[in-house]
Amino acid sequence: AAREAGHQTLVLVPEVALGGQLVDDFRRRFGARVGVLHSYLSVGERRRNWELASRGALDVVVGARSAVFAPLPKLGLIVVDEEHEPAYKQSTQLRYHGRDVAVRRAQMLGIPVVLGSATPALESHANVARGKYARLALPLRVDRRAMPALHVVDLRREAAAGALLSRPLRDALRQRLERREQVMLFLNRRGHSHYTQCSACGWVPECPHCDITLTLHVAPRAWRCHYCDHAEAAGDACRQCGAALLRFGGAGTQRAEREIAAAFPAARLERLDTDVARERGRVSEILAAFARGEADILLGTQMIAKGFDFPRVTLVGVLDADVALHLPDFRASERAYQLLTQVAGRAGRGREPGEVLIQTCTPDHPAIAAAVRGDERGFLARELEEREEAGYPPFVRIAALLFAGKEEAQVDESAARVADALRADAALAGVAVLGPAPQMLSRVRGQHRRHILLKAERAAVLRAAATRALEVAEQTKRPRAVRVVADIDPYEVV
Ligand SMILES: [Zn+2]
Ligand SMILES: [Zn+2]
Repeated sequence: AAREAGHQTLVLVPEVALGGQLVDDFRRRFGARVGVLHSYLSVGERRRNWELASRGALDVVVGARSAVFAPLPKLGLIVVDEEHEPAYKQSTQLRYHGRDVAVRRAQMLGIPVVLGSATPALESHANVARGKYARLALPLRVDRRAMPALHVVDLRREAAAGALLSRPLRDALRQRLERREQVMLFLNRRGHSHYTQCSACGWVPECPHCDITLTLHVAPRAWRCHYCDHAEAAGDACRQCGAALLRFGGAGTQRAEREIAAAFPAARLERLDTDVARERGRVSEILAAFARGEADILLGTQMIAKGFDFPRVTLVGVLDADVALHLPDFRASERAYQLLTQVAGRAGRGREPGEVLIQTCTPDHPAIAAAVRGDERGFLARELEEREEAGYPPFVRIAALLFAGKEEAQVDESAARVADALRADAALAGVAVLGPAPQMLSRVRGQHRRHILLKAERAAVLRAAATRALEVAEQTKRPRAVRVVADIDPYEVV
């Protein structure tokens, strides 16, 4: 409707790979005046689309997070697809949340904004409850297809030692392959093994620049840091005692790929994760091949969890549902519930009914149990109660002050000074100051990291506190030695 009125529509997507399918849909429906804006385009392409958009020559612009700032003179509608996705939160340099910027932009222009999601963020549920947002429900799946049947595989009983595929999942896979149906397997960890340890002396390879263990990658074989890209040769023997007794834990997609290929050598298998995505054009190639039925199994990280529509997929396997649960983040449960529900939604989108097998060691965890039962209401009620009790959003606003620097003592001193100043400031009485404490990763790329968490009921006083903190940090002896960043509504907070 916006298009008929001569208005432009901005569609934000969390992942560029997802944008491709959407752009094709829009082109088919609305003709050719659909443009894409994202960082994987060549500079020339991006400039051309940006220019077309600003002249009003594009009716629909589809883009990732940063497209929220696109110049659109006749903007009449903003759609935020999969609004709950953390990908909308930019956490480096200029920190903003693409969804929230979209809402503000729409407010200022007086135009509608539609936030789409099968599993909305808790914050969005709260905004509906407060009457800030209106809820438009789509109670039925497209074409009234039945929801897939979800089953839990209790890995404490079913797993053969160290194997990623339980017997029930193996059986289900074999059956689908025999019937020439497609399968998606989900494992939200890339690389081969996240954890290596010597069984003889306990040695663990760690990154020399970060406070984290190295992940084993194969083809090419190396130990890699997922935070700073440090890489070193990975031998078969312990570097401390020389014993060839290394144990590997925390299996990732590369190891899953090998295990599946060994179990089903005739199956055509494709893997999709950020390591594969580094190769230009590879993501759309793999997705297109899978859509054409040229692969039987698509194995991937959360890149494959989002709104893809592959009608021939009748089985979805979640290899390790516990990965998402144990992130040290107050949103871990919410994320786990959303991911499982999203992944499950990939099954049975065609004529054949779908089945979802969720492998887990904690089948009774509220997020997993609720996802299996499809009990959104129950999950939300419980999660909201816990957030209220613990004092987390959406009941309070939070901000993180992040300190980083080469010299640990200077970082500690700067953080302590800021915390003291905030606590002493009578104008900031409504702000709870927690910390300073080491960040979850206390050292990354050789930088020591501390943080202070601020909680307040109102955003205005939180912003005042953040501003004050930056002033205090500027007044320390060597302000340049410690970088201080204020992040309002941060993600990844313990
Ligand atoms: Zn050893
Ligand atoms: Zn590192």
